[in-house]
Amino acid sequence: MLNDTYKRKIDYLRISVTDRCNLRCIYCMPGYGIAQKEPQDILTFEEIADLVRLAVDMGIDKIKLTGGEPLVRKGLLRLIEFISRIPRLKDLSLTTNGTLLAKHAKALKEAGLQRLNVSMDTLDSKKFHYITEGGRLEDVLEGIDAALEEGFFVKINTVVMRGVNDNEILDFAQFGQEKRIIVRFIELMPMVKSIGCYTDLYSPPYISCGEIKDRLKVVGKLRESEERAGFGSGPAKYYEIEGLSVVIGFINPISCKFCSDCNRLRLTSDGLLMPCLGSSSYLDLKRPLREGKIEDVRELIKEAVFLKPLEHSLVSSSFTQCLMSQVGG
Ligand code: SAM
Ligand code: SF4
Repeated sequence: MLNDTYKRKIDYLRISVTDRCNLRCIYCMPGYGIAQKEPQDILTFEEIADLVRLAVDMGIDKIKLTGGEPLVRKGLLRLIEFISRIPRLKDLSLTTNGTLLAKHAKALKEAGLQRLNVSMDTLDSKKFHYITEGGRLEDVLEGIDAALEEGFFVKINTVVMRGVNDNEILDFAQFGQEKRIIVRFIELMPMVKSIGCYTDLYSPPYISCGEIKDRLKVVGKLRESEERAGFGSGPAKYYEIEGLSVVIGFINPISCKFCSDCNRLRLTSDGLLMPCLGSSSYLDLKRPLREGKIEDVRELIKEAVFLKPLEHSLVSSSFTQCLMSQVGG
Protein backbone atom coordinates (compact mmCIF):
# COMPACT_ATOMS: atom_id res chain seq x y z
CA MET A 1 0.00 0.00 0.00
CA LEU A 2 1.22 3.53 -0.76
CA ASN A 3 0.74 6.21 1.88
CA ASP A 4 2.26 9.66 1.65
CA THR A 5 3.82 11.86 4.34
CA TYR A 6 0.41 13.34 5.14
CA LYS A 7 -1.21 9.93 5.67
CA ARG A 8 -3.10 10.04 2.38
CA LYS A 9 -3.59 6.70 0.66
CA ILE A 10 -2.30 6.88 -2.92
CA ASP A 11 -4.20 4.41 -5.06
CA TYR A 12 -4.95 6.25 -8.30
CA LEU A 13 -2.72 6.76 -11.33
CA ARG A 14 -3.58 9.01 -14.26
CA ILE A 15 -1.66 8.11 -17.38
CA SER A 16 -1.33 10.47 -20.31
CA VAL A 17 -0.86 8.24 -23.35
CA THR A 18 -0.15 11.06 -25.78
CA ASP A 19 0.49 14.80 -25.81
CA ARG A 20 -1.27 15.11 -29.17
CA CYS A 21 -4.82 16.24 -29.66
CA ASN A 22 -7.23 16.80 -32.53
CA LEU A 23 -8.68 19.89 -30.78
CA ARG A 24 -7.14 23.10 -29.45
CA CYS A 25 -9.23 24.13 -26.45
CA ILE A 26 -8.48 27.75 -25.63
CA TYR A 27 -7.64 27.05 -21.99
CA CYS A 28 -5.55 23.96 -22.64
CA MET A 29 -3.49 24.09 -25.81
CA PRO A 30 -2.14 27.49 -26.70
CA GLY A 31 -3.19 28.66 -30.16
CA TYR A 32 0.40 29.63 -30.93
CA GLY A 33 1.21 25.92 -30.93
CA ILE A 34 3.24 23.68 -28.66
CA ALA A 35 6.37 21.70 -29.19
CA GLN A 36 5.24 18.10 -29.44
CA LYS A 37 7.32 15.27 -28.12
CA GLU A 38 9.28 13.14 -30.54
CA PRO A 39 7.70 9.69 -31.07
CA GLN A 40 10.75 7.95 -29.58
CA ASP A 41 10.28 9.93 -26.36
CA ILE A 42 6.74 8.65 -25.81
CA LEU A 43 6.39 5.54 -23.67
CA THR A 44 5.45 2.47 -25.68
CA PHE A 45 2.39 0.46 -24.67
CA GLU A 46 4.71 -2.29 -23.44
CA GLU A 47 6.48 0.21 -21.17
CA ILE A 48 3.17 1.57 -19.88
CA ALA A 49 1.95 -1.98 -19.31
CA ASP A 50 5.09 -2.86 -17.31
CA LEU A 51 4.61 0.23 -15.20
CA VAL A 52 0.92 -0.43 -14.58
CA ARG A 53 1.62 -4.00 -13.53
CA LEU A 54 4.16 -2.74 -11.02
CA ALA A 55 1.97 0.12 -9.80
CA VAL A 56 -0.94 -2.26 -9.16
CA ASP A 57 1.42 -4.55 -7.28
CA MET A 58 2.34 -1.55 -5.11
CA GLY A 59 -1.25 -0.62 -4.27
CA ILE A 60 -2.63 1.40 -7.18
CA ASP A 61 -6.09 0.06 -8.01
CA LYS A 62 -7.56 2.83 -10.16
CA ILE A 63 -6.20 3.88 -13.55
CA LYS A 64 -7.36 6.73 -15.76
CA LEU A 65 -6.10 7.03 -19.34
CA THR A 66 -5.94 10.59 -20.60
CA GLY A 67 -3.89 12.87 -22.85
CA GLY A 68 -3.80 15.02 -25.09
CA GLU A 69 -6.59 13.10 -26.69
CA PRO A 70 -6.10 9.41 -25.83
CA LEU A 71 -8.26 8.19 -28.72
CA VAL A 72 -5.88 9.67 -31.30
CA ARG A 73 -3.17 7.23 -30.24
CA LYS A 74 -3.19 4.20 -32.50
CA GLY A 75 -3.52 0.82 -30.84
CA LEU A 76 -4.93 2.17 -27.57
CA LEU A 77 -7.37 -0.72 -27.40
CA ARG A 78 -4.47 -3.14 -26.98
CA LEU A 79 -3.34 -1.26 -23.89
CA ILE A 80 -6.86 -1.17 -22.48
CA GLU A 81 -7.27 -4.89 -23.04
CA PHE A 82 -4.04 -5.54 -21.21
CA ILE A 83 -4.74 -3.24 -18.26
CA SER A 84 -8.33 -4.38 -17.82
CA ARG A 85 -7.14 -7.93 -17.25
CA ILE A 86 -4.77 -7.10 -14.41
CA PRO A 87 -6.13 -8.76 -11.29
CA ARG A 88 -6.72 -6.40 -8.35
CA LEU A 89 -7.35 -3.38 -10.59
CA LYS A 90 -10.73 -2.03 -9.49
CA ASP A 91 -11.34 0.80 -11.93
CA LEU A 92 -10.21 1.60 -15.46
CA SER A 93 -11.53 4.79 -17.04
CA LEU A 94 -10.74 7.17 -19.88
CA THR A 95 -11.08 10.92 -20.30
CA THR A 96 -11.78 11.99 -23.87
CA ASN A 97 -12.98 14.98 -25.84
CA GLY A 98 -15.52 12.59 -27.35
CA THR A 99 -14.93 13.46 -31.00
CA LEU A 100 -13.81 9.92 -31.90
CA LEU A 101 -16.04 8.12 -29.44
CA ALA A 102 -18.82 7.16 -31.85
CA LYS A 103 -16.25 5.20 -33.82
CA HIS A 104 -14.63 3.51 -30.83
CA ALA A 105 -17.29 3.11 -28.11
CA LYS A 106 -18.12 -0.51 -28.90
CA ALA A 107 -14.49 -1.62 -29.11
CA LEU A 108 -13.65 0.25 -25.89
CA LYS A 109 -16.41 -1.63 -24.11
CA GLU A 110 -15.22 -4.94 -25.50
CA ALA A 111 -11.64 -4.15 -24.49
CA GLY A 112 -12.75 -3.83 -20.86
CA LEU A 113 -12.94 -0.08 -20.28
CA GLN A 114 -15.32 0.59 -17.37
CA ARG A 115 -16.07 4.32 -17.34
CA LEU A 116 -15.83 7.37 -19.57
CA ASN A 117 -15.45 11.07 -18.88
CA VAL A 118 -16.33 13.25 -21.85
CA SER A 119 -15.19 16.86 -21.90
CA MET A 120 -17.69 19.23 -23.47
CA ASP A 121 -17.88 22.92 -22.62
CA THR A 122 -20.87 24.07 -24.61
CA LEU A 123 -24.06 22.82 -26.20
CA ASP A 124 -23.83 25.38 -28.96
CA SER A 125 -22.15 24.27 -32.20
CA LYS A 126 -20.69 27.66 -33.11
CA LYS A 127 -19.31 28.19 -29.63
CA PHE A 128 -17.89 24.68 -29.61
CA HIS A 129 -16.07 25.49 -32.83
CA TYR A 130 -14.67 28.63 -31.17
CA ILE A 131 -13.64 27.03 -27.85
CA THR A 132 -11.96 24.06 -29.50
CA GLU A 133 -10.60 25.98 -32.46
CA GLY A 134 -12.40 23.96 -35.09
CA GLY A 135 -14.15 21.01 -33.41
CA ARG A 136 -17.66 19.78 -34.29
CA LEU A 137 -20.10 19.52 -31.37
CA GLU A 138 -22.18 16.99 -33.33
CA ASP A 139 -19.29 14.50 -33.20
CA VAL A 140 -19.18 14.71 -29.41
CA LEU A 141 -22.94 14.37 -29.01
CA GLU A 142 -22.90 11.30 -31.27
CA GLY A 143 -20.01 9.95 -29.21
CA ILE A 144 -21.93 10.38 -25.95
CA ASP A 145 -24.96 8.60 -27.39
CA ALA A 146 -22.81 5.76 -28.69
CA ALA A 147 -21.15 5.37 -25.28
CA LEU A 148 -24.52 5.31 -23.53
CA GLU A 149 -25.80 2.72 -25.98
CA GLU A 150 -22.84 0.53 -25.07
CA GLY A 151 -23.88 0.82 -21.44
CA PHE A 152 -20.99 3.02 -20.31
CA PHE A 153 -21.23 5.08 -17.17
CA VAL A 154 -20.56 8.55 -18.63
CA LYS A 155 -19.71 11.81 -16.92
CA ILE A 156 -19.49 15.16 -18.66
CA ASN A 157 -16.68 17.55 -17.71
CA THR A 158 -17.38 21.21 -18.35
CA VAL A 159 -14.86 23.98 -17.71
CA VAL A 160 -16.91 27.08 -16.98
CA MET A 161 -15.62 30.42 -18.29
CA ARG A 162 -17.28 33.73 -17.63
CA GLY A 163 -18.45 35.40 -20.80
CA VAL A 164 -17.88 32.23 -22.79
CA ASN A 165 -20.21 29.47 -21.55
CA ASP A 166 -21.41 30.57 -18.10
CA ASN A 167 -24.83 31.28 -19.60
CA GLU A 168 -25.22 27.53 -20.24
CA ILE A 169 -24.97 26.25 -16.66
CA LEU A 170 -28.70 25.49 -16.45
CA ASP A 171 -28.71 24.03 -19.98
CA PHE A 172 -26.02 21.58 -18.90
CA ALA A 173 -28.04 20.56 -15.85
CA GLN A 174 -31.00 19.90 -18.14
CA PHE A 175 -28.77 18.00 -20.57
CA GLY A 176 -27.63 15.80 -17.66
CA GLN A 177 -31.24 15.14 -16.70
CA GLU A 178 -32.27 14.33 -20.25
CA LYS A 179 -29.39 11.92 -20.85
CA ARG A 180 -29.38 10.63 -17.25
CA ILE A 181 -25.70 11.38 -16.85
CA ILE A 182 -23.63 13.28 -14.34
CA VAL A 183 -22.40 16.73 -15.34
CA ARG A 184 -19.34 18.10 -13.55
CA PHE A 185 -18.40 21.75 -13.57
CA ILE A 186 -14.68 22.47 -13.33
CA GLU A 187 -13.01 25.70 -12.31
CA LEU A 188 -10.66 27.13 -14.88
CA MET A 189 -7.02 26.62 -13.90
CA PRO A 190 -4.26 29.01 -14.84
CA MET A 191 -2.44 27.00 -17.47
CA VAL A 192 -2.46 28.87 -20.73
CA LYS A 193 -2.12 32.51 -21.66
CA SER A 194 -4.66 32.48 -24.46
CA ILE A 195 -7.67 33.59 -22.42
CA GLY A 196 -5.72 35.77 -20.06
CA CYS A 197 -5.84 33.48 -17.04
CA TYR A 198 -2.17 32.66 -16.92
CA THR A 199 -0.87 35.60 -14.97
CA ASP A 200 -4.03 36.63 -13.19
CA LEU A 201 -5.79 33.69 -11.62
CA TYR A 202 -9.02 35.47 -10.85
CA SER A 203 -9.13 37.36 -14.12
CA PRO A 204 -12.43 37.61 -15.99
CA PRO A 205 -12.83 34.08 -17.39
CA TYR A 206 -12.44 32.42 -13.97
CA ILE A 207 -15.70 31.61 -12.21
CA SER A 208 -15.88 29.81 -8.89
CA CYS A 209 -17.91 26.68 -8.18
CA GLY A 210 -19.63 28.72 -5.43
CA GLU A 211 -21.00 31.08 -8.03
CA ILE A 212 -22.01 28.20 -10.29
CA LYS A 213 -23.93 26.67 -7.37
CA ASP A 214 -25.68 29.99 -6.75
CA ARG A 215 -26.80 30.08 -10.35
CA LEU A 216 -28.19 26.54 -10.07
CA LYS A 217 -30.11 27.42 -6.93
CA VAL A 218 -32.51 29.35 -9.14
CA VAL A 219 -33.87 25.94 -10.19
CA GLY A 220 -34.00 24.42 -6.72
CA LYS A 221 -32.11 23.74 -3.51
CA LEU A 222 -28.83 21.86 -3.78
CA ARG A 223 -28.37 18.88 -1.52
CA GLU A 224 -25.09 17.02 -1.21
CA SER A 225 -25.56 13.61 -2.79
CA GLU A 226 -25.16 10.65 -0.50
CA GLU A 227 -24.85 8.30 -3.43
CA ARG A 228 -21.18 8.17 -4.39
CA ALA A 229 -20.80 4.62 -5.61
CA GLY A 230 -19.61 4.58 -9.19
CA PHE A 231 -19.11 8.33 -9.33
CA GLY A 232 -15.36 7.89 -9.49
CA SER A 233 -12.33 8.37 -7.34
CA GLY A 234 -11.55 12.02 -7.97
CA PRO A 235 -11.95 15.21 -5.99
CA ALA A 236 -15.45 16.13 -7.17
CA LYS A 237 -18.29 16.82 -4.73
CA TYR A 238 -21.71 15.75 -5.94
CA TYR A 239 -25.07 17.44 -5.44
CA GLU A 240 -28.67 16.82 -6.36
CA ILE A 241 -30.93 19.69 -7.33
CA GLU A 242 -34.47 19.84 -6.01
CA GLY A 243 -36.84 19.82 -8.94
CA LEU A 244 -34.41 18.25 -11.37
CA SER A 245 -33.45 14.63 -11.60
CA VAL A 246 -29.75 15.07 -12.15
CA VAL A 247 -26.51 14.78 -10.20
CA ILE A 248 -24.08 17.66 -10.61
CA GLY A 249 -20.41 17.45 -9.67
CA PHE A 250 -18.12 20.33 -8.77
CA ILE A 251 -14.35 20.28 -9.12
CA ASN A 252 -12.94 23.36 -7.46
CA PRO A 253 -9.16 23.28 -7.48
CA ILE A 254 -8.91 27.04 -7.03
CA SER A 255 -11.65 28.27 -4.70
CA CYS A 256 -11.45 25.29 -2.39
CA LYS A 257 -8.34 23.20 -2.55
CA PHE A 258 -9.21 19.53 -2.71
CA CYS A 259 -5.72 18.39 -1.76
CA SER A 260 -6.59 16.85 1.61
CA ASP A 261 -8.31 14.00 -0.26
CA CYS A 262 -5.70 13.69 -2.99
CA ASN A 263 -5.04 10.06 -3.86
CA ARG A 264 -3.23 10.34 -7.16
CA LEU A 265 -0.04 10.36 -9.15
CA ARG A 266 0.24 11.51 -12.75
CA LEU A 267 2.35 10.09 -15.53
CA THR A 268 3.13 12.17 -18.62
CA SER A 269 3.29 10.52 -22.02
CA ASP A 270 7.09 10.72 -21.99
CA GLY A 271 7.37 8.95 -18.67
CA LEU A 272 7.62 11.68 -16.07
CA LEU A 273 5.86 10.81 -12.84
CA MET A 274 4.38 13.90 -11.23
CA PRO A 275 3.56 13.89 -7.50
CA CYS A 276 1.12 16.79 -7.97
CA LEU A 277 -0.61 18.65 -10.79
CA GLY A 278 0.59 21.95 -9.44
CA SER A 279 4.16 21.10 -8.56
CA SER A 280 7.22 21.40 -10.73
CA SER A 281 8.96 18.28 -9.43
CA TYR A 282 8.82 15.04 -11.37
CA LEU A 283 10.65 11.73 -11.61
CA ASP A 284 11.80 10.23 -14.87
CA LEU A 285 10.59 6.64 -15.20
CA LYS A 286 11.36 6.28 -18.89
CA ARG A 287 15.03 5.46 -18.55
CA PRO A 288 14.70 2.67 -15.95
CA LEU A 289 11.64 1.32 -17.78
CA ARG A 290 13.64 1.18 -21.03
CA GLU A 291 16.57 -0.43 -19.29
CA GLY A 292 14.30 -3.00 -17.67
CA LYS A 293 15.32 -1.82 -14.19
CA ILE A 294 11.94 -2.43 -12.63
CA GLU A 295 13.22 -2.21 -9.04
CA ASP A 296 14.50 1.31 -9.80
CA VAL A 297 11.02 2.18 -11.08
CA ARG A 298 9.57 0.86 -7.83
CA GLU A 299 11.87 3.14 -5.81
CA LEU A 300 10.97 6.15 -7.98
CA ILE A 301 7.26 5.53 -7.44
CA LYS A 302 7.87 5.44 -3.69
CA GLU A 303 9.84 8.67 -3.96
CA ALA A 304 7.06 10.38 -5.93
CA VAL A 305 4.60 9.43 -3.19
CA PHE A 306 7.02 10.77 -0.59
CA LEU A 307 7.35 14.04 -2.53
CA LYS A 308 3.62 14.72 -2.69
CA PRO A 309 3.13 18.18 -1.26
CA LEU A 310 0.47 18.95 1.32
CA GLU A 311 -1.33 21.04 -1.27
CA HIS A 312 -0.93 22.30 -4.81
CA SER A 313 0.55 25.69 -5.60
CA LEU A 314 -1.81 26.74 -8.39
CA VAL A 315 -2.99 29.69 -6.34
CA SER A 316 0.48 30.97 -5.53
CA SER A 317 2.81 32.30 -8.18
CA SER A 318 4.81 29.10 -8.34
CA PHE A 319 2.28 26.98 -10.18
CA THR A 320 3.48 24.58 -12.82
CA GLN A 321 4.13 25.83 -16.31
CA CYS A 322 3.29 22.40 -17.68
CA LEU A 323 0.41 22.26 -20.13
CA MET A 324 -2.71 20.30 -19.27
CA SER A 325 -2.40 18.47 -22.57
CA GLN A 326 0.94 17.16 -21.34
CA VAL A 327 -0.03 16.40 -17.74
CA GLY A 328 -3.39 14.93 -18.65
CA GLY A 329 -5.73 17.19 -16.69
N1 SAM B 1 -8.45 15.44 -24.34
C1 SAM B 1 -9.13 14.85 -23.27
C2 SAM B 1 -10.28 15.71 -22.78
O1 SAM B 1 -10.36 16.86 -23.20
O2 SAM B 1 -11.06 15.21 -21.98
C3 SAM B 1 -8.24 14.47 -22.10
C4 SAM B 1 -7.18 15.45 -21.67
S1 SAM B 1 -7.74 16.99 -21.04
C5 SAM B 1 -6.22 17.77 -20.66
C6 SAM B 1 -8.41 16.51 -19.47
C7 SAM B 1 -9.30 17.52 -18.81
O3 SAM B 1 -8.53 18.65 -18.44
C8 SAM B 1 -10.45 18.03 -19.66
O4 SAM B 1 -11.67 17.81 -18.98
C9 SAM B 1 -10.19 19.50 -19.79
O5 SAM B 1 -11.37 20.26 -19.82
C10 SAM B 1 -9.38 19.77 -18.53
N2 SAM B 1 -8.58 20.98 -18.64
C11 SAM B 1 -7.64 21.29 -19.53
N3 SAM B 1 -7.11 22.52 -19.31
C12 SAM B 1 -7.76 23.01 -18.23
C13 SAM B 1 -7.68 24.23 -17.49
N4 SAM B 1 -6.84 25.21 -17.82
N5 SAM B 1 -8.50 24.38 -16.42
C14 SAM B 1 -9.37 23.41 -16.06
N6 SAM B 1 -9.48 22.23 -16.70
C15 SAM B 1 -8.70 22.04 -17.78
FE1 SF4 C 1 -7.31 18.51 -26.38
FE2 SF4 C 1 -8.51 17.80 -24.13
FE3 SF4 C 1 -6.78 19.84 -24.15
FE4 SF4 C 1 -9.13 20.14 -25.34
S1 SF4 C 1 -8.79 19.77 -23.15
S2 SF4 C 1 -7.12 20.69 -26.21
S3 SF4 C 1 -9.50 18.13 -26.12
S4 SF4 C 1 -6.29 17.74 -24.55
